[in-house]
Amino acid sequence: MPRTPKTDAPTAPAAKASPMVKGLQKLGLVRAIDLALHLPLRYEDETRITALRDAHDGEVVQIEAVVTHSEVSFCPRRQLVVTVDDGTDTCTLRFFNFYPSQQKALAVGQRVRARGELKGGFAGCQMLHPAVKAAGGELPGALTPVYPTVAGLPQPWLRKAVLGSLARADLSETLPPGPEADFTNKTGLQPLWNLSQSLLFLHHPTPDAALATLEDHSHPAWQRLKAEELLAQQLSQLVAKRGRDALRAPPMRALPGGLTAQLQAVLPFELTPAQRRVGQEIAADLARPVPMNRLLQGDVGSGKTVVAALAAAVAIDAGWQCALMAPTEILAEQHFRKLVGWLDPLLAARGQRVAWLTGSQKKKERTAMLALVATGEAALVVGTHAVIQEQVVFDKLALAIIDEQHRFGVAQRLALRSKMRPDEADARGAVLDQVDTRSAAPPGVAPVRGEAATRSGSATGVEPHLLMMTATPIPRTLAMSYYADLDVSTIDELPPGRTPIVTKVVNESRRDEVVARIRAQVAEGRQVYWVCPLIEESEALDLTNATATHAELSAALPGVLIGLLHSRMPVAEKKAVMDLFTQGQMGVLVSTTVIEVGVDVPNASLMVVEHAERLGLSQLHQLRGRVGRGSAASACVLLYATGDAPRLSDTARARLKAMVETNDGFEIARRDLEIRGPGEFLGARQSGAPLLRFADLATDTALLDWARELAPLMLDRHPVLARRHVERWMGGKSEYLKA
Ligand code: ADP
Ligand code: MG
Repeated sequence: MPRTPKTDAPTAPAAKASPMVKGLQKLGLVRAIDLALHLPLRYEDETRITALRDAHDGEVVQIEAVVTHSEVSFCPRRQLVVTVDDGTDTCTLRFFNFYPSQQKALAVGQRVRARGELKGGFAGCQMLHPAVKAAGGELPGALTPVYPTVAGLPQPWLRKAVLGSLARADLSETLPPGPEADFTNKTGLQPLWNLSQSLLFLHHPTPDAALATLEDHSHPAWQRLKAEELLAQQLSQLVAKRGRDALRAPPMRALPGGLTAQLQAVLPFELTPAQRRVGQEIAADLARPVPMNRLLQGDVGSGKTVVAALAAAVAIDAGWQCALMAPTEILAEQHFRKLVGWLDPLLAARGQRVAWLTGSQKKKERTAMLALVATGEAALVVGTHAVIQEQVVFDKLALAIIDEQHRFGVAQRLALRSKMRPDEADARGAVLDQVDTRSAAPPGVAPVRGEAATRSGSATGVEPHLLMMTATPIPRTLAMSYYADLDVSTIDELPPGRTPIVTKVVNESRRDEVVARIRAQVAEGRQVYWVCPLIEESEALDLTNATATHAELSAALPGVLIGLLHSRMPVAEKKAVMDLFTQGQMGVLVSTTVIEVGVDVPNASLMVVEHAERLGLSQLHQLRGRVGRGSAASACVLLYATGDAPRLSDTARARLKAMVETNDGFEIARRDLEIRGPGEFLGARQSGAPLLRFADLATDTALLDWARELAPLMLDRHPVLARRHVERWMGGKSEYLKA
């Protein structure tokens, strides 16, 4: 039996375990309860010894036998070949990598236990790289768990740590007693086990457990874990929602003949009906004294920016400030230019303007911008992450807009919201001291315009309205569970006059034809993107690839200006390249995936994506959306290479197929979910959003319904249990617990 760790530290069963503690942290296993909830991926059965005579080809077995022969052979490559005999038959064990210590343990005459997959064959049965230990000792009474782990964190160590945590973690009941949490009647499933019973079982199932029910998570112990997890998630969503409903935000209405109307009048196009509709949904939210928490989803090119501008106009009209944050400098600058063009002439009449904040700004410019933001002269602030940095202090922020929200974590969204909180007042004072503030009002006593009078420095719980935008729509099942706290508006049509993009999947070997096609496009005065994605998780290699392609195209297309854009270029250089492309002088832009979001050059009509097989579906769709923005027929060529493999993997094929078959972002999102599953769909980018580890939204609908029904009851009648439950599952990750 593994020893129970003696120390109290939640994750340190042994002293001087720092690489392992690091490993645990990587896995997010910080508290004892985190370890207790770290469940095995699968199990190994070491509880019995199988006689070789009774074992079948392909079966994973543990044998106990004596070594009768052992040699290092070099044919066809260096390997340790060991013959063992268990009295019923013999078997060959083969090791291609081995240490001298292993060789010693497998010397002739040693009695060993070997565990592995048995392969029958012409030369008798054999095992490749079996796990070997000395024979003797008691057989374990339970299946051996195999845990998800990371490098530097060996299974045996992790097993001990988990076992120790089971004794320390608080596994007491958090479900309310009595009929409220009634499970069986509501779900038709077997009665729930209690948590500690379930965990003990899942970590060390008895050998008679039906492995199938463990593997497909239908075992009652699994049901308990999934029910717990879903309940925690529903509770935390509900608390966030209630918390938000209790907050106040400035109610803002578009004034007749005001900025919104003026903006609409100067736009060079008519809004689509879908844009109008979502505009009204947003306006209705802004008019309420409760903070908006709305996601605006619309396919690439559907025209989200102008909807954002109209929302900003409502806020500005009402005397407030608005911030718009974009994930990349290029995208932020595009927004800035567009919004300056639309709004600055109108704002000038009010003595206001659009300001610009980014990390790469010169100190002097930045200080000037910060002053504009602090005094409120900047009615709208556009920028990158720089917008949420500490030194940025708004005079009276009331609307925060986040573009491509899937690129930002929860922490960043919270940071933007907190820009309005009164507890920022001290920081505000400090910054106002630094910048020239002769015209500024003292901290907390904001100049009053229109309905801005509702706010004062002593107000509590005042939040800005939040509008998030994304081109990666959230599938319905996810919207119901992860984003239950979010209202969703959808732009479901593109502006008129767009021609559909034709997508082709082309083998890398036909690169020449693609280059010929580029030549033809450029000859017609069109422009072309060529994207080189990450080859490995290495920026350096990524760059080599883009540079090589740039050289290749430059050689193949003499007389055409070909630019190169990558994330490690200085910002000024990036800008210069982007300008040449935007203004049409540059025929081809070779880039790494930095242009993935938001770039808007209507004259570009061909998108070539190299190594398309390595990119995710939504990323491919985003890239494709860079073309087809004008009236010219546009195309997207997805170049793929299979490398050493004879063919593409199934998922890569499925992705490329989906790209050819549909241009519809919603259909793409649906297929993406199908190919990847919800956990991955949300992905690391959503980090901070509590993901479901055990429950599956597609199949655990009965459990989800149960949790949705129980959560509000539990919050109202058993708040202490509810809090303990959420804390157990989410620790510091829930916004609820930060409150
Ligand atoms: P996205 O939703 O991908 O952010 P953008 O806001 O960048 O899309 O808009 C894409 C392009 O369509 C821009 O050039 C924008 O000016 C233009 N556009 C937006 N709305 C309309 C409309 N109603 N009619 C015509 N063009 C429009
Ligand atoms: Mg956009």
